[in-house]
Amino acid sequence: MSVGTVPPTGEAQQDTPRAGSGCASGGSAPARTDVRILTRAELALHGVRMEAPVRRPEGAGPSDDGHFVMGSGSADGANAALPTNPDSPYTVRDGRVWLGEEDTGLTLRTVRRPKFYDLTTADGVRYEQIARLHGADVLATTVVQTCIRYAEPDRCRFCTIEESLRSGATVAAKTPAQLAEVAEAAVRLDGVKQMVMTTGTTTGPDRGARGLARAVRAVLAAVPGLPIQVQCEPPGDLSWIRELHDAGATAIGIHAEALDDEVRRRWMPGKSTVPMAGYEAAWDEAVRVFGPNRVSTYLLVGLGEDPDELIAGAGRLIDRGVYPFVVPFRPMRGTLAARDGIGAPDPELLRYVTERVALKLRSAGMSGADQKAGCAACGACSVLRTAGG
Ligand code: SF4
Repeated sequence: MSVGTVPPTGEAQQDTPRAGSGCASGGSAPARTDVRILTRAELALHGVRMEAPVRRPEGAGPSDDGHFVMGSGSADGANAALPTNPDSPYTVRDGRVWLGEEDTGLTLRTVRRPKFYDLTTADGVRYEQIARLHGADVLATTVVQTCIRYAEPDRCRFCTIEESLRSGATVAAKTPAQLAEVAEAAVRLDGVKQMVMTTGTTTGPDRGARGLARAVRAVLAAVPGLPIQVQCEPPGDLSWIRELHDAGATAIGIHAEALDDEVRRRWMPGKSTVPMAGYEAAWDEAVRVFGPNRVSTYLLVGLGEDPDELIAGAGRLIDRGVYPFVVPFRPMRGTLAARDGIGAPDPELLRYVTERVALKLRSAGMSGADQKAGCAACGACSVLRTAGG
């Protein structure tokens, strides 16, 4: 199946209402399109015609967005990372999201620039180069901004981890002391509630976990009790997973991005040399050490993986206690995919996958918020939260 197509199932074809008519799916299978989910999917892919003072330009992983807080009805706001796109059909007036003259029922406000961005370390590094605000309350950093897989042909086609380094937006390696200093200020000045630490892959058998463990210990010494999620490839030596837990990390992300080996080879030539069995062993060890629903993986929609196989694979992840964080692929500036003209998936495909994965999560009693820290707890880059996952 090509990128952007939706299987011709009954559910998908019953879809009729557009934004504004409102409905909610429930029960054991999505009976018809939930308009809120489709609208949220369209916003994730087409973005919104609005500037955002807090942005995440380039960097590790698959998103490159402005940061917002989105609400629906009386529901309180949730973090939302959306492209800021002058050509988007979605506009914001009086704090509400409009599709043309149609009120979508969603509210949207920008995340204000945090105070800690104005600070600088004693050795002259701007705090903003060390860690960034994601959503309204998440501090995110890439501890090591280089990756052994970044040179072609190994490089993941959706990733720009070293571009932000070249542009001067960040520094190559953040010291534990720098991270502790920034985290303390971000919590004190800007009400940060949790922290995400990712890393480029390093050469040793720890794959970057050693640096993460040091960083976690330093941050927790400065801000005791701050929930922290660490993200890395499956360490060659699985004892690093215990080390990360013992350092004080609350949750861990071990991100496969795709489950189909052919898709993995095409999109992640370097990373796909780690076999899926290696991911499965790392996930199982992480669930054993961190507990269920403290472990997650990104799954990207739009890489050409068969949607129903992706949904079934997400179900198997849930069964082993791993939260599948379903996120749309977006062709960020600086990626190999954008260079090659590969587009984002159809919002309908994103809606289709998200709705079904959210249903499986609900059946298993798993929610992103219960991860306590990390991308699934933040939720901004995914539509899962809107879909009840
Ligand atoms: S989901 Fe993860 S990458 Fe996206 S804004 Fe939240 S913390 Fe950042």
